[in-house]
Amino acid sequence: MVEVTNEQLLEQARIAWSRAYAKYSKYKVGAAILTKDGKIILGCNIENASYGGTICAERSAICSAISQGYRDFEAIAVVVDAGHVASPCGICRQFLVEFGNYKVILGTVKTNDVNVTSTYDLLPYAFTPKNLEEFDHVNGHNTTHIESA
Ligand SMILES: [Zn+2]
Repeated sequence: MVEVTNEQLLEQARIAWSRAYAKYSKYKVGAAILTKDGKIILGCNIENASYGGTICAERSAICSAISQGYRDFEAIAVVVDAGHVASPCGICRQFLVEFGNYKVILGTVKTNDVNVTSTYDLLPYAFTPKNLEEFDHVNGHNTTHIESA
């Protein structure tokens, strides 16, 4: 597999950033998620006139990846157009950690400010699929094994 550097993934996130639909806030965000088999999938924030319908770049990237059949991730890069990096919001942290512990590279569009962290570091004590598996084990339920994949 070809190694993808943090900077290469950030560069892809900047492409996604340029496609963001941030009509209301003007706060564009781009994300690029790297799958374990080396595929890079982009996501951007997509706002909506019904504000609650807005989706962040991180979740947009995950939705796209899952839809394309990828569930195992190496890293995600996220960029904003600010002097410093911005961390994923709470909802996105939960969404990201659903798929395990992997690298999170935070960057910007115009500066060299970069912060490398991980999904577990961003959301300590996370509620994950493991909690449901333990629930199943203790209670004899089957909430987590709906499909064989
Ligand atoms: Zn978010």
